[in-house]
Amino acid sequence: MSTANHLVAGSDPLRTLPPLPALKQSRYLATEIPGPRSHEFMVERRAQVSSGFGTQLPVFIERADGGILLDVDGNRIIDLASGLGPTSLGASNERVRERLQAQLDRFTHTCFMTTEYQSYVEVCRWLNERAPGNAEKRTALFSTGAEANENAVKIARYFTGRAKVLAFDGAYHGRTHMTMSLTSKAHPYKTGFGPFSNDVIHVPVPTSPRGSADTVDHSLDRVRAALLENDATSFAAMIIEPILGEAGCLIPQEGFLAGLREIADEYGILLIADEVQSGMGRTGRIWAIEYENVVPDLLVAAKALANGMPLSSVTGPADVMNAVHPAGLGGTYAGNPLSCEAALAVFEQLDTEGVLDKATELGRIAVEMLRPLVGAGQGVIDVRARGAMIGIEFGDEDTLEPASGRAKAVSAYCHANGVLALTNGVHENVIRLLPPIVIEPTLFRDGLQVIIGGIRETALKAAEEKADVSGR
Ligand code: PMP
Repeated sequence: MSTANHLVAGSDPLRTLPPLPALKQSRYLATEIPGPRSHEFMVERRAQVSSGFGTQLPVFIERADGGILLDVDGNRIIDLASGLGPTSLGASNERVRERLQAQLDRFTHTCFMTTEYQSYVEVCRWLNERAPGNAEKRTALFSTGAEANENAVKIARYFTGRAKVLAFDGAYHGRTHMTMSLTSKAHPYKTGFGPFSNDVIHVPVPTSPRGSADTVDHSLDRVRAALLENDATSFAAMIIEPILGEAGCLIPQEGFLAGLREIADEYGILLIADEVQSGMGRTGRIWAIEYENVVPDLLVAAKALANGMPLSSVTGPADVMNAVHPAGLGGTYAGNPLSCEAALAVFEQLDTEGVLDKATELGRIAVEMLRPLVGAGQGVIDVRARGAMIGIEFGDEDTLEPASGRAKAVSAYCHANGVLALTNGVHENVIRLLPPIVIEPTLFRDGLQVIIGGIRETALKAAEEKADVSGR
């Protein structure tokens, strides 16, 4: 049987199989990573799939659950990425599976714009109840984070009758046309894909390793100045991630979000919180913006909302969300019934199984193990964590000059040793950890220990290279 046929047969939905044994929650290396079978599949991947899709770790996965990814070579890799954030409750969560299976027996799709189903309404009810603020709310469901952000901007424009949007340096909001315009990092997200919307203005967020030289007041003045220079009353919205994920889990200085709220109110601008990555319990609260006690006008969720099934949402006050004419919002797959069932399973567990406490505990463990490395001669200039949203930043310990090569080298060490740890950051100098919230603490500690090993080894190499250069 050819490799390709084997893959298809392996996923045949008609075969009846006994339940799989639980996936062992420990790291195990059966081969090098990537192993021979992953290498073989990569050849076919390159022959069939657009190279426009990158990959952080070129291994093919056979099963995943809890904190483990089992690859096709039998390696058990510690998952510190949760598929970029969605699989907070594990990639084979039992309650999600049960609800999906029951829904599969009923129907897979009707399109909510043609005939309706109750689970969509129930998802909206939970989000209306749990989004910050006391206003009566309404929710609209979509499929991806970018699509929800795009729709949040549409709603804000419709409601205000204005066009412009203020976004922030380091922001990531998606890959569609409008969200590319909102995203600040040029490469790889924007290079060659312009022209972009002329209605988006970017300003800095006050945050940097070891505290910013900018005060919150100064940064808020800059926001005000940017608005005034561009006719403040022509702005429909300001959009911000309460923690900037792709920028390296950057946490804006305390008071910045509250200050934005005041400015938004002053000029009649809607404040959009993009909680696509930071929401749904990742930070130890349902929404990261709760840490600042700020109520956004529009709240956007995706990723962990349906634990890996495609679902996203925009929630806001009824008068804003209902301003748009009927059929002005929608999408064939928006609020797909399988995704809605997965979301309901997530809600049940968030409400009953101590998920928020588990996320907080992961952040505590990360800080306890990693923070001693900051400024200790290893090139680590910051370790920040809000729950299970964790950034390790590399740079020169004196000048704080970013060291992108170090993050990549540490990540490569981790991959070779069976730990999936992603790099990101404005300067590509951050290891970002988004572990499944349900990862067992001992497994998480093992993963962090590997990261520490990688930091030590690559620090030694960097020091040797420096000595080599200066000795020449
Ligand atoms: N906003 C934020 C904050 C994100 O982190 C992401 C995804 N990384 C998006 C929007 C885009 O979500 P999607 O990939 O589902 O379109």
